[in-house]
Amino acid sequence: MGRYTGPVCRQCRREGQKLFLKGERCYRAKCPIDQGTGIPGMHVARRARKMSEYGEQLRQKQSLRRQYGMGELQFHRFFTEALRRKGVTGEILLQLLELRLDNVVYRLGFAPSRRAARQYVLHGHITVNGRKAAVPSMVLSQGDVVAVKDKAKSRDFATKSLDAATKAQMPAWINLDRTAFKGEIVEIPTREQIAPIVDEQAIVELYSR
Ligand code: SF4
Repeated sequence: MGRYTGPVCRQCRREGQKLFLKGERCYRAKCPIDQGTGIPGMHVARRARKMSEYGEQLRQKQSLRRQYGMGELQFHRFFTEALRRKGVTGEILLQLLELRLDNVVYRLGFAPSRRAARQYVLHGHITVNGRKAAVPSMVLSQGDVVAVKDKAKSRDFATKSLDAATKAQMPAWINLDRTAFKGEIVEIPTREQIAPIVDEQAIVELYSR
């Protein structure tokens, strides 16, 4: 299945929670979730019934996958990698997602949303450890330095985003040097720092079926 290109807010409505896909607009009163807009579709009321355990687990997975703007296959690849590594699979999955280059660019405030960050990376405006990096799904490590290219077009976009960036967007595990347009991953984020919007254990159980 390809990448979702339909109405963005529809994804939050489907999951019944804010996935923060539109950057600063998600904090305004106009957000459909804040306004109480329900699940999309004409016959939702008729379909409404108690969700099965599988259904609950599926919704958790879909929410997390959509929050990071990933396709099914890529998300499953990340899960397989988490499973392969030593430690608590759910937490490792969250860390791998959080350490994606597009997410780090968003967290640093260089782009207003993960979606915008993905485009920004794809268009070659970002470097990692001084080298051009145009793969949004690249997983970074502790000590990696992400920077905006020293070009007017690249920096103009980042400046606008940084001006509008929220505190919640920039966590303690990355260190931003705003004047140099760069940030370093000072530590691997913990589950508490990531503050996931889902129960990641449900996703582990879903994939273990
Ligand atoms: Fe739309 Fe953002 Fe609200 Fe989601 S959180 S419904 S993307 S405005």
